[in-house]
Formats: sequence, structure tokens, C-alpha cells
Amino acid sequence: MSDMTRSLLEDLKAILGASSVTADAERRAAYSSDETLPWFDRHYTADVVCFPENTAQVSAVLKYANERRVPVTPRGAGTGLSGGAVPYMGGIVMSMERMNSIIEIDVENRTLTAEPGVVTSEITKAARERGLLYAGDPCSGDISFIGGNVAENAGGNKVIKYGSTGAHVLGLEIVLADGSILTLGGKRRKDVTGYDLIHLIVGSEGTLAVVTKVILNLLPLPARVTDLFVPMRSVNAAMRLVAAISTRGGVIPSSVEFMDRKSIQNVKDYTGMEIPHSEAAAFLIIQMDGMDRRQLWIDVERVGDICVELGALEVFVAEDRNARDRVWRIRRLVAEEEWTNSMALLSKEDIVVPSGSISEFLAELPALAERHRAEYNAYGHIGDGNIHMTIFPMSDMEPDDLKKASNAMCADLYRLVKRLGGTLSGEHGIGLKRREYMNIFLDEAHIALIRRLKDAFDPNGVLNPGKIVEG
Ligand SMILES: Cc1cc2nc3c(=O)[nH]c(=O)nc-3n(C[C@H](O)[C@H](O)[C@H](O)COP(=O)(O)OP(=O)(O)OC[C@H]3O[C@@H](n4cnc5c(N)ncnc54)[C@H](O)[C@@H]3O)c2cc1C
Repeated sequence: MSDMTRSLLEDLKAILGASSVTADAERRAAYSSDETLPWFDRHYTADVVCFPENTAQVSAVLKYANERRVPVTPRGAGTGLSGGAVPYMGGIVMSMERMNSIIEIDVENRTLTAEPGVVTSEITKAARERGLLYAGDPCSGDISFIGGNVAENAGGNKVIKYGSTGAHVLGLEIVLADGSILTLGGKRRKDVTGYDLIHLIVGSEGTLAVVTKVILNLLPLPARVTDLFVPMRSVNAAMRLVAAISTRGGVIPSSVEFMDRKSIQNVKDYTGMEIPHSEAAAFLIIQMDGMDRRQLWIDVERVGDICVELGALEVFVAEDRNARDRVWRIRRLVAEEEWTNSMALLSKEDIVVPSGSISEFLAELPALAERHRAEYNAYGHIGDGNIHMTIFPMSDMEPDDLKKASNAMCADLYRLVKRLGGTLSGEHGIGLKRREYMNIFLDEAHIALIRRLKDAFDPNGVLNPGKIVEG
């Protein structure tokens, strides 16, 4: 251990107590990565990891680090997919895992107040127990923290109807790099008193402030939820159907998820599971919810008819919990299979295009992949135009060539996305993984403004340095 690390460790012990700081090599390594691992050329490791238990401790650590110019990387559950929680410049990793209480559920105001280290699904569960809906629903909800969701503006399955995490945030408590504590917003649903700083912090990936408290909006819990599993004759037909659910069916579904044939094939190979019409070109999961059971059934029938008219091979209707779990298990297994075989991945992408351009985007992918001698599967939150593409290398490629091949393919992919009016990331964020591509999507003045905002919040550059934009 260097003298600098030793004195950092001792100083943080004095601030937080000995049991709230570690420089143990194994723990530093464990708290220095997220789910983006196969992408990076090297491991970036924290010098120390600390575990504050309250806002005052967060403030004290930041004040200390800011005065000494020590980098601090806030960390939620480490499920991020862009390297946001990776301590690129070493220094301190600040884990939020001990700030894990649901502080209050206010039924009358329909709000829930939580510390940042609460697992997202615990928030959903606590709200449901009070007859309310927390509509944030990332697929990682069972493992990610609400603070991480806020920092990434996490999306997920229900964005088409309810919006991303930011849409549910009414208030935040944050700590700035110099240790000052601010309260933004509150339990109110309208607020134009000054700039909308809440939604600047949402999605800022821990580069502007540490979130220490979140006030969330809750909604009435839908009385009924129904899922349709729909294998489709062609990808184009599936995309026409996605649009028609709202334009002809008059319904805003709570989810529209897409899986291509390769995704389904991977799940079959991985589990041996029988999936009906597994040779279909595309698969949709359409979820509808509502308060009025009769009306919901009328909507389900109308959307079901449109599915058949537009090329569904069959429409499976899942109403009870078991049937609905079986449907969503398939979607979850697409991601699980990838993580199990993750070392074979070149890259996992998170692009978004306008809904009307999805067909064109998907149609161009086979030629693009062939040019780069790669294979891919595509799936994701198609109702939002958000497609997760996982790129696999050809098996005969030398390991050293993989990264180059991946970079070349991504650059080509992003040019296509840009031409179609899309963007670099819909929900996984920029972090370390995508920052070199920011200038494809944002012009110079936009990136310069991001830098000036960062300077205003964190003039010494100690909060999660090196993320979102380089240098
Ligand atoms: C299987 C799987 C499925 C996923 N599905 C989805 C999905 O459907 N939708 C989606 O959007 N994402 C998804 N993700 C990505 C990931 O779960 C989300 O980005 C999530 O919001 C990260 O939360 P976390 O607590 O793990 O944060 P971390 O990964 O620990 O951190 C993410 C970023 O937030 C910052 N941060 C964390 N806590 C704080 C805080 N309190 N204050 C300030 N900054 C903070 C970190 O510095 C980092 O930049 C998935 C990931 C996996 C592994």
C-alpha cells in the first residue's frame, strides 16, 4: 500500500469509523467493476472503498476529497452497462449500499421517499402493498438500486406508457462535490421555481452530485394486467403492429418488447425450453393494464384482432400470474443467456431510433454485420424504439482483432443510427464505454456546454471523473 493510500484510509476511518472503509484488495476489486466488464482493456481499481450510512457522512467524505482533489466514484449495485461505476481515476469508491431504507410511503400524497441504496423491486413491492404502483421497471429491478436508476435515468419495460425513472422523480436530496447538501423539489407535482435541476441530476451518472434521497411519484395500482405473446411472420409486420396498437387500437400498452429469431434461438439452446413458433421471424410481448377489467378485455380483444390481421402466427393471452411469469421468463432469459456466455460478446448496444425508422434500421443490420464479419441478436423495448443489439465475433477472429472489429462495427452502426434520427443510448448511459462516440451525436457546442455544467457543479473535477465526455 502506498503512503498516499495509507493516509487516505486513515483519514476516511477518522471520518466514517473503521468498519466503513476498506483497502482490502479483493473488496476493492469487487467494488471497482460493473456489468460492462468484457469491454474494457484493463481493470481500473479504487484505492479505497467507503460505505457512508447517512447524508452527513457523504457530505464529510466529499468535502475531504474535494479539498485534497481525490476522485470519488459513487456506486449503486454495480449493475450498470456503461462502466459508470468503474473508478477510472482510482481514488475512492463510495458505495451507497448501507443507505438502504425506505423512509416513508405517503399514501395521501402518493409519494415514496427512499435512500439511494434501496433495491428497486423493494420499492415496487412496498408501493404495491399500499395499493399503489411505482412504475419504474428496469429489467434489473431485482438487483439495481434506486439511486443508480436515478443516476442513469433507467428505462425498462414500462417506459412506453409511464416514462423512464426521471418521470417518477418529484424530489431529490443531493450532495455536491464540495460537500454542500441541497434539497430539490419535494412532494409537489408542479414546480417552476428556478431551473429544473432535478432532471439535470437525473441521468448525470454521478458526475454532478451524489444522490442521497429520492422522492418518487406513485400511481394507482392497475386492477388488471394482461400480457400477449405474439410470434410474427416477419420483422416488418411486427413493426407495423407496434405502431397499429396505438394508432388503430387506441391503446397505449404498458410494455411492447421485441425479440428477434436469434434471441429466441439462443434461449432455446441455453435452456432446452420449448417456445411455440420458435422459427417465427419476430416475437412481441404486449402488456396492457387498466382499472376496469371489462374495458381491458375489450382492448385486449381489439389488439389481438389487429395482431392476427397484421401477421401474427398465433396470439397467446396470459392473464394469471403463472402464465404471465412464463411469458416474461422468455424475455429475461434472453439477457441471462448473454451474461452466461458474456465473454463471447463483442459489445452490447443500447441504441434508439424514432419508432417509424425501426423497420429500416433492422433491415440494414444483416448487411452491416456481414461487412464486419460479426453476428448479432436484437431485442428490447421496441415500443420506445430502444433496441439492445448484442454483437458476437466470428469464431475464427484473433482476440487482438476483436476490439478493433467491435469499434469499427459500432462506428458504422452509430452512423446508421444517426442517419435515421436516433441516438447513442436510450437507458444504459454513456459512462466510459460510449464517451468516445459522443461527438457523432452531439455537436461541439453541446459537448462544450456539458463541460461547463460539469465545471459549475464540480470545479475540481473530483466526482466520477472521465465519464460521459473525455478529459
Ligand atoms: C440483467 C440486466 C438488465 C438490465 N436492464 C436494464 C433495463 O431494462 N433498463 C435500464 O435502464 N437499465 C438496465 N440495466 C442496467 C442497470 O441495471 C441500470 O443502469 C441501473 O440503473 C444501474 O443501477 P445500479 O444501482 O446498479 O448503479 P451502478 O451500476 O452502481 O451505477 C450506475 C451509475 O450511477 C452512478 N450512481 C449510482 N448511485 C448513485 C448515487 N446515489 N448518486 C449519484 N450517482 C450514483 C454511478 O456513479 C454510475 O455512474 C440492466 C443491467 C443488467 C445487468
